[in-house]
Amino acid sequence: MRKGIYKSAADLRGMVAPGVLTAKALDAVRERIVPGATTIELDAIAESVIRAGGGEPNFALVPGYRHTICSSVNEDVVHGIPGDRVLEPGDIVSIDCGAQVNGWNGDSAITVVIPDPSRPELVAERQRLSDVTEASLWHGIAALAKAKHLNEVGSAIEDYIDSQGEFGILEDYVGHGIGRSMHEAPTVFNYRVRDKGPAVKAGLCVAIEPMVTLGGIDTFVREDDWTIATEDGTAAAHWEHSVAVHANGIWVTTAHDGGAAALAPLGVTPVPIP
Ligand code: MG
Ligand code: MG
Repeated sequence: MRKGIYKSAADLRGMVAPGVLTAKALDAVRERIVPGATTIELDAIAESVIRAGGGEPNFALVPGYRHTICSSVNEDVVHGIPGDRVLEPGDIVSIDCGAQVNGWNGDSAITVVIPDPSRPELVAERQRLSDVTEASLWHGIAALAKAKHLNEVGSAIEDYIDSQGEFGILEDYVGHGIGRSMHEAPTVFNYRVRDKGPAVKAGLCVAIEPMVTLGGIDTFVREDDWTIATEDGTAAAHWEHSVAVHANGIWVTTAHDGGAAALAPLGVTPVPIP
């Protein structure tokens, strides 16, 4: 039912508050991704920011999950459960987080590499992985701004990553529509697919979230039944933003500036939702 994926302008305006609150939670978490911190501490920080801002952690609304963030370290790609794991120098840490405000949702993810002076090559390789993944997200968002069909996003992400070297783009997990629910239709692929997907037009709101590895794309689910890890043990990065398409352009709801700074070099100027 593709008709149902397009939201009204009022609906899109409802997506702004949860987007900004999600961004604030990730800002606070980012500051505490340091050696010695535990992932459950990061979870508590995100929860306190979201509740103080009048929101609710929407990950806790997913059946069977009770935390505010997912924290995925090193070869864990996504869906890692916060706990007593202590972060160490050289770790590559992906934090996925979402807030719900007045029934609307934000969903965003960042990756941070913790400095380790004793392993400069490992840190550089992981930082490059994170940088390429983040840039691929912005290329996907820029493509959305100009796209006729949604599959142009995945093509842009794949083309950019391929231009940067040898990386693996996960195919088992993908982006999604977002609105009253955190996860809605349509599927947003991070790689080239033949099916054009729905038309990109006013009212579309999607979470774009490339998951990229330093090796292969095969994954497995750990014994906790949540955490997704790379089969070959290589490190992974995950970046995500929620993006609204409206009558006058696009707006990244989970970026404080709507994505302006990151999109400028790509020739796209985000426009606030009217
Ligand atoms: Mg997410
Ligand atoms: Mg998502």
